[in-house]
Amino acid sequence: MSLPTASTVRQQFLDFFASKGHHIVPSAPIVVKDDPTLLFINSGMAPFKDYFLGNKPAPYKRIADTQKCLRVSGKHNDLEEVGYDTYHHTMFEMLGNWSFGDYFKKDAIAWAWELLTEVYKLEKDRLYVTYFEGDQADGTAADTETQNLWRQYTTDDRILPGNKKDNFWEMGDTGPCGPCTEIHIDLRSEDERAAKPGRALVNADHPQVVEIWNNVFMEFQRLADKSLIKLPEQSVDTGMGFERLMMAVSGVKSNYDTDVFQPLIQFIAKEVGLEYHGTAPATVNDQPATENEKTDIAIRVIADHIRTIAFTIADGQLPSNVKAGYVIRRILRRAVRYAFSSLNQKQPFLYKLVPVLADQMKGIFPELHQQVPFVQRVIEEEEISFLKTLETGLRRLDALEESARANGGVIDGKTAFELSDTFGFPLDLTALIAREKGLTVDENGFKKELEQQKNRSRNAQETEQSDWVTVTETDAPNVFVGYDQDEATARLLRYRK
Ligand code: ATP
Ligand code: MG
Ligand code: MG
Ligand code: MG
Repeated sequence: MSLPTASTVRQQFLDFFASKGHHIVPSAPIVVKDDPTLLFINSGMAPFKDYFLGNKPAPYKRIADTQKCLRVSGKHNDLEEVGYDTYHHTMFEMLGNWSFGDYFKKDAIAWAWELLTEVYKLEKDRLYVTYFEGDQADGTAADTETQNLWRQYTTDDRILPGNKKDNFWEMGDTGPCGPCTEIHIDLRSEDERAAKPGRALVNADHPQVVEIWNNVFMEFQRLADKSLIKLPEQSVDTGMGFERLMMAVSGVKSNYDTDVFQPLIQFIAKEVGLEYHGTAPATVNDQPATENEKTDIAIRVIADHIRTIAFTIADGQLPSNVKAGYVIRRILRRAVRYAFSSLNQKQPFLYKLVPVLADQMKGIFPELHQQVPFVQRVIEEEEISFLKTLETGLRRLDALEESARANGGVIDGKTAFELSDTFGFPLDLTALIAREKGLTVDENGFKKELEQQKNRSRNAQETEQSDWVTVTETDAPNVFVGYDQDEATARLLRYRK
């Protein structure tokens, strides 16, 4: 069976909303340059923030687009899920339609339903919708208007109440806010669905019962005293995960089994001489149980991360030791580490994926296609430099083997810390290699050393070395500019010209 193509499914969304009077706009760059609160665009709404805040008038009353989004830092950070689950990515496309003081709940709901069931032909009884149940502590009423609107389209057992966390959106402590309605899809087999109704699995992290679309109804303004007033104009902000939509329309069980990821996955598998089996641990917290799971995770991580890396570089953010550049460097190194330790890739190879990705995306995001050699070179330089670090660490580990055996088979915390601190060799990789050698690592001892060093000095170098912790904006040092940024980046900038 041939899979629906990404370009067709994306275009259907844009054409549908164009037919409903929406102006189609291109995606904003994923890298944010002028907002101290945000490093990367993390939702379709972000580029339109000023319109909702009333800082600028919206150029059109109705807009639709696909927006490149990144969720690897700050409020939304999905990095640790990526590779382990099958539906969270670092970079993804958010399809969205907006009303700026124009249509409201009735039309948004009608069109969402029409698009999903008539254009994409998703089965109605696989869809679940949610509405805001109200919040007593906060005095906000339940959104019964939305609940009643959905009754025209589906049955009560598929219309579920949701709490403030999932069903009430606020821009910040103050500002525009309002209830939302989410649409979820149950992609399980008939038997599984008969055994347990999907409604019990909505918002329960089940990999085949997933949220696909969020429709936010901006109705209120939150004031500094926490009270709500009705906005003079009501607006709609929606976001649908394109890769999840692709999974639904393709009738597959993972975003990675769609046309969005398959070309990359096939290329990676061929390049490393392995098969991709599509296996995943039962939950994100489970360690891979089999060798196939382990290599599949690594393949997914790489297929995911290359998109983030390539598009952020194409949008003007080079890997570096500061802020957004630092986040990208860490993601790139995360991909190198998986390639190195799970797929046995000791030579640079991520950069080879760029033309495959650029070719796939050139119709919708030409910015990558226009800069392939430059983006490749940036990535390859980074790979070379980090692989050197990894090799040095490996040599050190070999040299340490004997003394560790004499120490009861344990690499002591001080040594593990030195590997990380001086050689940039991450603890989890030390542990992994130790395991392969039949050794263990004193991780508590490592933590103690780390604490001690933190107490001694909180310098940027230290953050640079702890490569595999979750990255937040506040983690990123903003003072230290390493030699590699000065030299390699300057060199690379010359390639760009
Ligand atoms: P989830 O609960 O699955 O993490 P969310 O509630 O955080 O999703 P929203 O902020 O409502 O997501 O974003 C709108 C849509 O974007 C979601 O309905 C989903 O389809 C998609 N989406 C959100 N996060 C991701 C991600 N990390 N990767 C791919 N798609 C995503
Ligand atoms: Mg989320
Ligand atoms: Mg959610
Ligand atoms: Mg949501």
